[in-house]
Amino acid sequence: MPTVIRDKEDSESSSEDEQEDHPCIAWSGLSRKIPVLVFFAEAIVSKDGNIRSVGERYNLAFKIVRTESRLVRGLLTTHGFHEIHPNSNDFNLMWTGSHLKPYLLRSLQDFQKVNHFPRSYELTRKDRLYKNIQRMQQSHGFKNFHIVPQTFVLPSEYQEFCSSFVKDQGPWIIKPVASSRGRGIYLVSNPTQIPMDENILVSRYINNPLLIDDFKFDVRLYVLVTSYDPLTIYLYEEGLARFATVKYDCGTKNIKNQFMHLTNYSVNKKSSDYVSCDDPEVEDYGNKWSMSAMLRYLKQEGKDTTLLMSQVEDLVIKAVLSAELQIATACKMFVPHRNNCFELYGFDVLIDSNLKPWLLEVNLSPSLACDAPLDLKIKASMISDMFSIVGESLSPSLFRQRPLSANNTDTDGPKEKPGSKQGDSTLGLTAEELKVLRRIREEHERRGGFIRIFPTPETWELYSLSCPPKSSLSLSLCCSKVQARMAFSSYLLRVQMRLLAESRTIANSACRSHLQELVIRFLKRAASNLQQDMRMVLPSRQLPLQDRRRILSHQLGEFIHCYNKETEHMVKKLEKVKDQEHCINPSVFQEFIAEASESDLEEVLTFYTHKNKSASVFLGTKCRKTPPQPQASVFSSASTLVPQPPGVIWAAARPGPTTVSAPPVSQVLRQVQSFTSTSSAAAASSSMPGAIHIYSQKLSRPISAGQGKPLMNNILLDVWCVLSSQSFYGLRRWSSTSSCPGTPSRANGRPMDPHHILAKNYNSLSGD
Ligand code: ADP
Repeated sequence: MPTVIRDKEDSESSSEDEQEDHPCIAWSGLSRKIPVLVFFAEAIVSKDGNIRSVGERYNLAFKIVRTESRLVRGLLTTHGFHEIHPNSNDFNLMWTGSHLKPYLLRSLQDFQKVNHFPRSYELTRKDRLYKNIQRMQQSHGFKNFHIVPQTFVLPSEYQEFCSSFVKDQGPWIIKPVASSRGRGIYLVSNPTQIPMDENILVSRYINNPLLIDDFKFDVRLYVLVTSYDPLTIYLYEEGLARFATVKYDCGTKNIKNQFMHLTNYSVNKKSSDYVSCDDPEVEDYGNKWSMSAMLRYLKQEGKDTTLLMSQVEDLVIKAVLSAELQIATACKMFVPHRNNCFELYGFDVLIDSNLKPWLLEVNLSPSLACDAPLDLKIKASMISDMFSIVGESLSPSLFRQRPLSANNTDTDGPKEKPGSKQGDSTLGLTAEELKVLRRIREEHERRGGFIRIFPTPETWELYSLSCPPKSSLSLSLCCSKVQARMAFSSYLLRVQMRLLAESRTIANSACRSHLQELVIRFLKRAASNLQQDMRMVLPSRQLPLQDRRRILSHQLGEFIHCYNKETEHMVKKLEKVKDQEHCINPSVFQEFIAEASESDLEEVLTFYTHKNKSASVFLGTKCRKTPPQPQASVFSSASTLVPQPPGVIWAAARPGPTTVSAPPVSQVLRQVQSFTSTSSAAAASSSMPGAIHIYSQKLSRPISAGQGKPLMNNILLDVWCVLSSQSFYGLRRWSSTSSCPGTPSRANGRPMDPHHILAKNYNSLSGD
C-alpha cells in the first residue's frame, strides 16, 4: 500500500510518522494530519477486509440505543467498529432513536458523536415546527415563510380554527401533535367531528396534490445538519416518492379512505393494491419510486423540475432556520464540544398541482428500513455518505483516553482561546472561525451525494438578509470597488517584494519558480487592460534565474504604478459625481492594508471576487475599438508559457550576444525587441478570466514546490471552497438529474449508480 510522508508541523495528529494512503482514510486538520474514516456503502455487501481493517485498528466502538437499524449496524461493523453494551459510555458513535437527555450530552468527550442535537423537537414535533414557522411568518413576512399548510393547535386555538373554517370549509386534516407513520390521522369536513379533549393539530388539507397516473404521492428527502452554530445544512441528492394505493378523488365522499389520502408507506403497505418492486434496477415502478425517477417523469411531462427543486431547497432551509436559534442555544448549554452532534432529518414534502412544495413534517429518525431493493440502494449510500461527512476521527491521541473536557475546544488546529484572533489572518476571523471554515471545507471533500444547501454563496446572502450576520466573515464582503483595487495593489506589492527577495537568493537555475510563472501569466493578461499602454518586458529564459526575477519584479512594479494611477483617477471621478461608494471605514481599511500579509489580502480579494462574481474590478475595464492584430511569434520563443493574448504592447527581453553573464536590468531593457499589436474589447475582457485563472492556478497548487511558502494559505483554499466551489451546485445537480434522457417508462428503470449492487443483495439486510 503506498504511503505518503508528511512533514511534522505540529503534534495535533496521529503519532505515526508515515501517513497512509488508504481509501478509507481522509486527512483533515490544520496540517492535514488527522485521519478521518471514509465510508463505502458497498462494504455492507462485500464485507471487504481492507475496509474493515481501519476501524479495527483504531478500536472504534458504537452503540445503538432505542432503535433497531440493521443498516446502521451493518455499515458500522463492516467498517471495523465493534458494538458495545447500551449502558457503556466507551463509544465513538452513539446511534439513538430518541432525543438525548442533557446530562448525557454534557458528558460527551470531544471524540464522541451522537446522531441528535438537543431540542431537535423544535423541528420534529409537528406543533413546535408549525409554531416556529408561524413566528417566522410574523417576523419575516407571511409570504416568505408560506411553506406549511395553515395549521391550528387544538384545543387552545379552537376559536381561530372556527373562524378560518367559515372561510374555508375544508376538508381539514387532523393529526396528533407528536406521532408518525400516519397514526391517528384523518380528514374532517366539519368542526363538530374534531375531539376537544386531545392535543391535536388541524391543518388545511392540500386538496389539489400533484398526481402521477392519478395517484397522490409525497417525497421523502434526507437532510443532514452537521452544525447549528454556524448552521450547515446538506440535502441528499436522492430521495423517495411514496404513492397512495387508491386513485385520488378530491370529492368528499372518499374522505375516510386512508389509502387515497395518506401516502405513508406504513399505511399503504397494508393495502392489497400495494405494488412493490423487486428489481433494483427499476426506480419508477410500483408504489415507491426514487426521487430522481419522479423528477424525470415530471420533466418529461413538461414541468420545471429545476424550479421545483430550488423551491424545495428553499423550504428546507427556511424550516431549519425557524428552529436554528433554539437548537443552537441548547447546543451552547448542553453540548461540550463543537463536533459532538449531527442529525439526519426526514423531510416529508407534498407537491401541489401548481408545483408548489409544502412541508408536511420533519421526522426525527427517518426510517432506514430496507423493505425493497430501492430502499437499500438509496439508504445505504446515503447513510454511508453521512458517516463520511460527519467525520469519525481516527487519531489515537483523541481516542477514549482523554480526561473529560469542560471547554468547547476542538480537536484539530491550534489551541487558541475561543474568540482570540489568529495572527495570520487579520480579517477578524477568530481561531474558532478558521476551524469552522476548515471543517466545512473538509466536509465538502467527503460529501458524497450530499449537497450543501446552506451556506452557499446564494443562500448565505439570501437568508442573511433576514438573519443577523453569522460571523465576521460577512464583514469582509463589504469593501468598495476602490478598496478592492487598493487591496489588489497591495497584494501585488507583496508579490513583487517576494519576487525581489527570491532574486537575491542563490537559486538552482533548474528550479522553476511558480511565483515567477504566475507573474508572467498575470502581466501578459492584466497589462492589456490598463488604460495606458504598457511596454512589457518578458525576460528570456536564457538569462540567469535571478535576473529574470529582477526583470519581472521591475515589470510588476511598473504595472502597479499604472494601476494605482487608474485607481486615483477612479476616486476623482467618484468625487466629481459625489458617489459615496458603500465601503469599510477608510481609516480601518488603511490600517488593515498596512498590516496585511499577502494571504490576508488574498482573502479579501477572494471574498470580493466571489461576491461580485468577477475579478474585473481589480483589473480595469478598458475597451478598445481596433480589432486585434496577429501577434509576433518571437515572444513565444522567449517565454512559452501560455498563448499571448492580444491587447498589450509586448516585448521580450532577450540576451544580446554579449550578455552571457547577468546584465543589469537597464541593459536588458535596451535590448528589447518590441512587438506591437492593437487591442480589442475581447482582449480587455480576456484579462478578467486571466485573473481568475491565476487564482485557480493557486488553488490547484497549494504549496509552491521548492519555496517552502504556500502560494496561498489554507484559509484561502477554505474560503474559496466554502463560498465558490459549490456555487449553483445544488441547482446543477437537480437540473442534470431531471434532464436525464430516457422515457420514464415505469417498468424500465436504469441503474442509478455503482451501488445498485447493494440493492441486488438487499435480501441479506432487509428489515429494520
Ligand atoms: P405522519 O408523521 O403520521 O406521517 P404526516 O404529517 O406526514 O404525518 O401526514 C401523513 C400523510 O398525510 C402525508 O404523507 C400526506 O400524504 C398526508 N397529509 C398530511 N398533511 C396533509 C395536508 N395538509 N394536505 C394533504 N395531505 C396531507
